[in-house]
Amino acid sequence: MNKNLLDLLRYDDEDPFEKEIVLYYQTRKSLKAIKNQSQELYVVSKQWLRQWKYYVEYIEGIAPNQHRDKPGALNSDLLSNENFLLKYPRDHAFNQKIIKLQPEDYVLVNKQMIDVWENVYGAELKILRLVQFNQQGVPSLNVNLLRQPVYINVQNPKRGILQVDENCIIKYWIQLLFVAVKNEFQINVEKIRLWKHKHFQADYAIKQLEEHQGRFNGEILDENLTVGFYKTDLIIIDIKINGKWQYDYIDMKIAFSQQFKHIYEKAYKGCGKFICDKNYCYSNPIFSQIGFDKKTLQQFLIEQFKEETIDWNTVCWNQVIEQKPIQQFEGDIVVTLSALSNFPNSFGASFILNFNNCYDVINYNNLNPELNLQTIQQVNNVINVKILSQWVDNLVQNKKQNIYFVRSIIIIMHFKCFNDLLHQEQNRMLEAFLTLNAEDKELLANYLIILPDEYYIRYIQTIIEILGIFLKKESMKQIQLLKKTEIQYVQQMLELLQVFYKSNIIVKRLNPTKFQIVEIAKLYPKYGDQLEYFQFDSYNKKDLEKYYFTFCQYPWVIPLEFKSEILAIDSRMNQKSQYESSLMFFQPYLKLQIDRNDVVRSALEALSRDDINLKAKLQIIFQGEQGIDQGGLAREFFCLLTQKLFDLNFGMFVPKNNNSILWFNKYNMEMPIKYELIGMILGLALYNQVYLDLQFPQVIFKKLMNEPTCFEDLKELDLEVYKGLNTLAEYEQDNIEDTFALNFTITEAVWDDIIAVELLPNGSQILVNQKNKHEYIKLCINYYLNESIKIPFNSFKKGFWTVVEGNGIKLFSGSELQQLIVGQKHIDLQELEDTTEYNGFDKNSEYIRSFWGFLRSLNEEQQKRFLFFCTGSDRIPVGGLKSLKFQIQKHGENSEQLPSAHTCFNVFLLPQYDSIEKMIMKLQIALQNCEGFGLL
Ligand SMILES: [Zn+2]
Repeated sequence: MNKNLLDLLRYDDEDPFEKEIVLYYQTRKSLKAIKNQSQELYVVSKQWLRQWKYYVEYIEGIAPNQHRDKPGALNSDLLSNENFLLKYPRDHAFNQKIIKLQPEDYVLVNKQMIDVWENVYGAELKILRLVQFNQQGVPSLNVNLLRQPVYINVQNPKRGILQVDENCIIKYWIQLLFVAVKNEFQINVEKIRLWKHKHFQADYAIKQLEEHQGRFNGEILDENLTVGFYKTDLIIIDIKINGKWQYDYIDMKIAFSQQFKHIYEKAYKGCGKFICDKNYCYSNPIFSQIGFDKKTLQQFLIEQFKEETIDWNTVCWNQVIEQKPIQQFEGDIVVTLSALSNFPNSFGASFILNFNNCYDVINYNNLNPELNLQTIQQVNNVINVKILSQWVDNLVQNKKQNIYFVRSIIIIMHFKCFNDLLHQEQNRMLEAFLTLNAEDKELLANYLIILPDEYYIRYIQTIIEILGIFLKKESMKQIQLLKKTEIQYVQQMLELLQVFYKSNIIVKRLNPTKFQIVEIAKLYPKYGDQLEYFQFDSYNKKDLEKYYFTFCQYPWVIPLEFKSEILAIDSRMNQKSQYESSLMFFQPYLKLQIDRNDVVRSALEALSRDDINLKAKLQIIFQGEQGIDQGGLAREFFCLLTQKLFDLNFGMFVPKNNNSILWFNKYNMEMPIKYELIGMILGLALYNQVYLDLQFPQVIFKKLMNEPTCFEDLKELDLEVYKGLNTLAEYEQDNIEDTFALNFTITEAVWDDIIAVELLPNGSQILVNQKNKHEYIKLCINYYLNESIKIPFNSFKKGFWTVVEGNGIKLFSGSELQQLIVGQKHIDLQELEDTTEYNGFDKNSEYIRSFWGFLRSLNEEQQKRFLFFCTGSDRIPVGGLKSLKFQIQKHGENSEQLPSAHTCFNVFLLPQYDSIEKMIMKLQIALQNCEGFGLL
């Protein structure tokens, strides 16, 4: 429960947390006011803060009196094992061992707050940082200390990672080191200076230092700089003992010739890697393709040296001799591959069919990895999860972000024990997934197309099952407080699943609903939708203090029903904020005056006024009628309006595909504004949670959500055309011109005329043949689905998006939007029976029990007919029939009248016939004639 400030300031002896909460509130408020200055602040982990909020009941939406655990010591969750200066105090700013923090992992507070918390809970780690606030009051700081590799050569050469505050001026750092080194090595150091090593990577620089008895060609740091300005590979701590510095400068001339020798060697011989991405290296295929001979190469490098154009950061310093990719496996495959797994590039290339050192087969544009499946099968038979897991560890440890690593992943997935690997929580493959960039993930999604169905489906099932069990375990805890590591695990698994999901979009192998994890909706025993919404909202607002983790980053994994609850909260919040901001100027409700006799015109007029608030709650007033709209009138309005607009005589839509769907009539002369009106109606229905009976094919909803259309979409629009184009696509002989006699036109019936539409300029002159048929098919699909209805559809879309707004809607795919607006497909009669209300009947009477018994005896088709009879739609709303608010009303005593219905209110009117047999007979008659009959 969120307490407001006035309540908080009222001192209350009985609340032991009062002082902390007030102080926290004031701290957060005062920090928001800081602009354009810097301040010393403390970092507090979000994990700890969340525990604290639960403990003191500060968090929104959490019921009081739940069991509350006292949080542990402050920031105890941030400790990590890496350190260098072992004998330096752990909580000292220059030796703090903290795990890497992202901006969403922590909050900032002032000293006063920290002191109170330390007093109450104890502080494991107090992290002080100097924070800069910009003009907008946005704090910028690097919470994570700079990890600087250092090298020291006293008695035994030693290297390590030293953590320094980026903003720390180097001369102070030296003073600190002075004490630290003394403590660490127990030697009398007279002076310390730091050397920055230029050009070289750390390994190479250290090797050089050792070869030249401690001399090196580094460069001393300006002692007044802050460490953050130095992006060096290595800092060497130079120490003066007995009046002698440990390192001397190398002669410039020697250094120069060394450098030249190095670069020449790499350029002439290569570095020993199978493929190298560095410049001036013969192992870089781009460089080696230039084909220098010895003399030209020398000449070229001398020129580069003279002009000083060499960027030493891009020079190859690699020392590793890599094993070459293997095409023929001889000897022990497992041993060979274990060794090879240390080189992802070579490993990735080893399974490529017909590789033969030809780099063309593995360039980025080649989306087909062309794997040698026979070799994979051979390996598959002799390995187990232990071996595979070792390979994965090696590959990840040596990974470079490139195409060969992605190839390694798809190869690993071809081994059936990958499924067992998924069960291991400590899994390097998952770690690697979080760091893959978008391009690599897309590439992998493409590669996944070749993974056999059997594996593909099993992996997806395994991931979903594991996550389901994980979430179920969480949901049974007292408080559902995911730890940072747990969130990381969930995210890693979801990232992995997402690649499978994306691959399924490219080539559909599973119904997208198979990716949903039902346990997500049950993670929180109470207020789940609200808590998830708050997280989603904070995520969108980049409110890092409140944001924790949201499944909404992976909307396809959330069950539709749960998602629509989130959407409902989102639209309520939008309506609320519109209401609050509009009190002064506008109406809090969207009140529409509708003339029953001219619904379309009056709706158009009402909705095109510019002083209305489309996001507000809809209220319908029928002219000349009394009654306040509690939702029923709005539903009636939608009913009347859609009946009218979709009336075929109205001409805006035409039936297609054997009358199963309605499609935009491009030859309609109506004003585009009427299509816009329909778009708005869809939006309003969505916002006000009214289901519309629309006969649109799914592609309309996909287009509304900006999803690309595809060949399959044509199936629902026009099966004949789809079949025809499919036949053409599959036809392999060369006589297409004679067999099909097509040119680049489409013929269409307009009123009584047949007209030809050219798909290309002069299309009627271009015959379709084996070569250009795919172009023809592409143009046809585009014409039918996009081009031909462009004008009316764009008006329609514009109308929809004028009404619909907010982040909630972005969670839905086109097909899900369709379900939200027109309902689901399968009937669960029990759900309907359980939630039905009665007016004039007893729920437990034999009459009513027999009524349900009769309905149960019907097949699904007939049950849908009943649904249509009662509600005017045979679609099932999101959330199932239980959300229908269905009512059975007694409609007079025994008579010959048939049962009827108020379709707009979901009320079924059933007379009290004098026998059950008569009721069933009357019901049968009514259902048989149900279209256009019995509807009130
Ligand atoms: Zn190289």
